[in-house]
Amino acid sequence: MKLLIATHNRGKLREYQEIFRDLDLELLTLDDVGITRDVEETGATFEENARLKADAYARASGLLTLADDSGLEVDALGGEPGVFSKRYAGEEKTDAERNAYLLEKLRAVPPEQRAARFRCVIAIADARGNMLTTEGTCEGEIAFAPRGTNGFGYDPIFIVGDSGKHLAEFPSKEKNKISHRGRAAEKARAIVQNRLNKKEWS
Ligand code: IMP
Repeated sequence: MKLLIATHNRGKLREYQEIFRDLDLELLTLDDVGITRDVEETGATFEENARLKADAYARASGLLTLADDSGLEVDALGGEPGVFSKRYAGEEKTDAERNAYLLEKLRAVPPEQRAARFRCVIAIADARGNMLTTEGTCEGEIAFAPRGTNGFGYDPIFIVGDSGKHLAEFPSKEKNKISHRGRAAEKARAIVQNRLNKKEWS
């Protein structure tokens, strides 16, 4: 069976290949099926955006489709950057500039008020409008300075749980086990497996 992963990002495809490796699935990206039109992420929540993308790409391709949306929620900022994580501080900024901007915003916030989490919602849809979603979170806090070189985005400034380690210090396999995306994907795996076994959506 084919499963369309609604991304142009080969790195993301590799993460899902690792998670679904023991299922009898052919994973394709938007580029593989020739879809060039991007669905606008106009939703107010990660779930709305994941649903928008999964539904639109499943209808466009006729394939079972997995779409995700994720980002960082900082309690001291009322949940920002949230769905704006990718564009925070400006469309053309680098990850390093975004991290510096967030650290500056939190400069006067004491350690006990720096709680944050990564959240990921995955939506799986087919071309007939069936859809299921899963969610995963990774709890932690925002550091005072970046550390580590692995991963991407906000990983260098995010301290995982009470590990004392920044997410960018975890090798990718370790990150997949504890990350918001890894957790949401493990649940998504069960949905795909049911579908492969020709069971109803569950
Ligand atoms: P998207 O879900 O791939 O569109 O990701 C949205 C944005 O959230 C990314 O551009 C990052 O800024 C941030 N983000 C999502 N997941 C992670 C992660 O695992 N580490 C660091 N930043 C992340």
